[in-house]
Amino acid sequence: MIHTNLIDGEWLGSQDIVENINPSDTREVVGLYTRATTRQTEAAIAAAAAAFPAWSRSGVLQRHSILKKTADELLARKDELGALLAREEGKTLPEAIAETVRAAQVFDFFAGEALRLVGQVLPSVRPNIGIEITREPLGPIGVITPWNFPMAIPAWKIAPALCHGNTVVFKPAELVPGSAWALVDILHRAGLPNGVLNLVMGQGSVVGQAMLNSDALVGITFTGSTGTGNRVALASLEHHRKIQLEMGGKNPMVVLDDADLDIAVEACVSSAFFSTGQRCTAASRLIVTDGIHDRFVGALIARLDVLNVDHALKPGSHIGPVVDAQQLASNLNYIDIGKQQGARLAFGGDCLNRGTPGFYLQPTLFTEASNAMRICREEIFGPVAAVIRVRDYDEALAVANDTPFGLSSGIVTTSLKHASDFKRNAQAGMVMVNLSTAGVDFHVPFGGRKASSYGPREQGQYAAEFYTTVKTAYTSA
Ligand code: NDP
Repeated sequence: MIHTNLIDGEWLGSQDIVENINPSDTREVVGLYTRATTRQTEAAIAAAAAAFPAWSRSGVLQRHSILKKTADELLARKDELGALLAREEGKTLPEAIAETVRAAQVFDFFAGEALRLVGQVLPSVRPNIGIEITREPLGPIGVITPWNFPMAIPAWKIAPALCHGNTVVFKPAELVPGSAWALVDILHRAGLPNGVLNLVMGQGSVVGQAMLNSDALVGITFTGSTGTGNRVALASLEHHRKIQLEMGGKNPMVVLDDADLDIAVEACVSSAFFSTGQRCTAASRLIVTDGIHDRFVGALIARLDVLNVDHALKPGSHIGPVVDAQQLASNLNYIDIGKQQGARLAFGGDCLNRGTPGFYLQPTLFTEASNAMRICREEIFGPVAAVIRVRDYDEALAVANDTPFGLSSGIVTTSLKHASDFKRNAQAGMVMVNLSTAGVDFHVPFGGRKASSYGPREQGQYAAEFYTTVKTAYTSA
């Protein structure tokens, strides 16, 4: 079967068909997927614009029931869809199933939100005048997503967009069309009218660029690298388009002398290495105070030593492969840079051979790193972390905040004083105490500061800030 694009309710092919390759076993073709052309992308945008007036006035019960049906089908098919996700992206099967469940939870949440859309009624400061503040949908919205959460990130953008009455043109990352196609197929069969959700798979430089060039898309929600996010921002300015950008991270995890060692090691292993370190919320700077440094490094290395890096579907795999050859080459290049700039390679650093040909990389730990080194300033987006030794809490906080990014910031401590101070002063959108920097809930705001995020937060009720525009109406009685 060749998977095609959904444009105005029809599945349309093109001459340009690509193989979706399994990074755990590069001999396996997960499926064949069609790239949309520029013209098809423009047709998808036109369809979303044409469908908007009716969908924006659609009843909330219709939206509720479509989103709920989608949640139910995702949940019922979590094992199958999780396996597809693991095969195309490379995260382990348990992680991939959990991501599918998360997508179902997001649709379930926004199915409920559709029945809870509210405004405000206020008295005017002038006599005999009433004021209503309402939230209206924005219009046709572009959704551009990265490869590392092929199901959850599309879910947490498409669900609120539809819930609030917007229409959507969805461009998933080229590397992971499978989960995107499956999600759109489910939503389409759940009863969305033609044109309300359009799928355009293909390259960022073609399909993504056609979306950036469009006058009709009144909003773009984007997750990906800071470089591409900046392009989205600049291109959107001249179209007066609303934007929501979730971008890179270089997240710190502080470990203080008074930390519980087991909690510190687990929080750091999970933050830095699970999902192959390919999470925007991954901690790649482990900032450790002097008194616990040597014990912490010893315990962390012992833990890394027993992690299995192997095929994503293999029972017992803790870490799957890196997503593709290019990302692997980039990770190896950063490992070289770390060595050249004087960090000590304390664990890993090499590719691994496994039973199947894939992009396997050892979890890699540097020690004796300084926060000025490139491995501590630039996002690597792989299973690579560096330990930075500091004197005390004050230095730890300063180093944690000394970064261009500001997504998630963690601390492991038993001190209420330091935990409270860190929550107040960490320059990040999300702060974790005695927890991994990754791992978030779906009903509360998600996002960061500085080069990590731009525009309103995602998820939960805060999603309305992006997916609606506020109207203030005055009525004289
Ligand atoms: P990219 O920025 O390379 O790509 C993101 C998306 O943008 C892809 O769909 C890509 O298409 C598309 N794109 C590329 N070029 C253009 C263009 N000129 N116009 C429009 N769209 C374009 O990021 P990755 O996919 O490599 O994802 C990894 C990055 O995502 C990391 O930096 C990570 O930190 C960040 N990320 C951030 C999260 C957050 O919430 N803050 C969450 C998850 C990831 P294609 O790939 O098909 O070419």
